[in-house]
Amino acid sequence: MEAVPFTEKSYWLSTRPYQPGPALAGDLEADVAIIGAGYTGLTSAYFLKEAEPGLRVALLEADVVGSGASGRNGGFSMTKIGMMHSITALRFGKARAVEAHEYAERAVDLVHRMVQELGFDCDYEHPGYLWVATSEKQRRRLYKEIELVHRLGIKGISLIDSHELRQRVNSPLYVGGAWWEPNCGILNPAKLAWCWRDAVAQRGVEIYEGTPVQTVEQTAEGSRLTTPNGRVRAGKVVFAANAWSHQFAPLKAKQVPAWTYIVMTEPLNDQQRAALRWRGREGVEDFRDLVHYYRLTADDRLVWGGRDVALSPDGGMDHDRNEAVFAALRGDLYRTFPALEGIHFTHAWGGPVSAALDLFPAIGHAGNPDWVYVLGCVGHGVSLTHLHGQTVRDLVLERDTDLTRSFFVDRRMVPVPPGPLRRLVTGAMVGFMRWEDRRYDVMPDHR
Ligand SMILES: Cc1cc2nc3c(=O)[nH]c(=O)nc-3n(C[C@H](O)[C@H](O)[C@H](O)COP(=O)(O)OP(=O)(O)OC[C@H]3O[C@@H](n4cnc5c(N)ncnc54)[C@H](O)[C@@H]3O)c2cc1C
Repeated sequence: MEAVPFTEKSYWLSTRPYQPGPALAGDLEADVAIIGAGYTGLTSAYFLKEAEPGLRVALLEADVVGSGASGRNGGFSMTKIGMMHSITALRFGKARAVEAHEYAERAVDLVHRMVQELGFDCDYEHPGYLWVATSEKQRRRLYKEIELVHRLGIKGISLIDSHELRQRVNSPLYVGGAWWEPNCGILNPAKLAWCWRDAVAQRGVEIYEGTPVQTVEQTAEGSRLTTPNGRVRAGKVVFAANAWSHQFAPLKAKQVPAWTYIVMTEPLNDQQRAALRWRGREGVEDFRDLVHYYRLTADDRLVWGGRDVALSPDGGMDHDRNEAVFAALRGDLYRTFPALEGIHFTHAWGGPVSAALDLFPAIGHAGNPDWVYVLGCVGHGVSLTHLHGQTVRDLVLERDTDLTRSFFVDRRMVPVPPGPLRRLVTGAMVGFMRWEDRRYDVMPDHR
């Protein structure tokens, strides 16, 4: 199959010129080798160099910096972690649901602060987040979730009534009020990744693009990473390959890749903007299990994603396009905003997220004290990966900090079963979410 140029992997990846750097040619020694140059790899490299400028850090990227999920996402920097507070509370207990929320809030604040401090030109705005219901059943569930969050003592989230919601964003499909959370940013994700690339390069991180790591082995002299045209000997290894993590033996049973899709319109005209209101430019999601997420770009295009996900039956990574989901997304957008009937769609793309079986992130040691991994952020990794970068720093430097003591560091995970069972289990999970959405939502099934 012919390789897709990175500029075609998402709209965002075409919004700024980018010249990929060289591939590794020859052998290299490093204190830390990082596999994958999305936000996790980039921020890990940054915070490591910030903590210990003398460290030799090599960042090895199979394709192009930011060409994975980091350059293709919806660009919400949000406090979501795992699925929702009630599910986290059920799985890990109420105290940990609060701890997880605090971690996620800290992550959003970190992105906001770093963008300002480092002067990143990534169209960052901080408009807040709305979680809306599009059916009465969803509304009841959403209100319960808000009640729970308040009972847990979590601040910064309120219920706004239906009048206020419609003043903010005007859809005939909205039922009741909404979850309103001012602490959410929206940004251009590829620009953010490439700003990080420049920041780490300036601090002396060695970046190799077009350099897939094929094997990682422990030897008497440290870890040895093999790439097509060179080997790296490293003291520590960071696995930051996200949805590709299952391709490394120690991580095979920890996650599966799942694809989410986005369609995007031409810039809205004044009439269309007026019909939708949306003066606050909030990021919006609905309360489906397989959510819709939507927002405006800097030039007022509507980015519209979600509705369904695709799994990979064999672990292969070639599922970036899904015409059935693209068509369904376009229909959903017209249903939600009839005032946009006839608007042109200019782009459609997809990308893989990393999903653990309990849909909660995981950080830890990959069966070896010198190998650190991060995975499982599902569709909520823009902010989380940035704080994970600091957690990785502390794990690599063997520091005992509040970050390394987070309950999801080195947590026990439900293993993804091998072979046909893997297909059965993951298929059943997605099947359940689709079934719930058919029961709870008004959008017609496209399958
Ligand atoms: C369509 C879409 C919409 C999303 N929307 C949002 C959103 O609005 N908000 C939000 O918070 N999150 C969202 N996410 C999730 C978010 O993008 C991810 O959680 C986050 O970008 C993960 O960053 P990462 O660095 O861990 O992984 P990635 O950005 O995926 O980076 C992993 C990198 O590893 C490289 N790699 C893989 N294998 C190897 C190898 N063998 N050797 C070397 N390199 C390798 C890949 O090429 C890739 O560049 C979305 C994701 C997608 C796909």
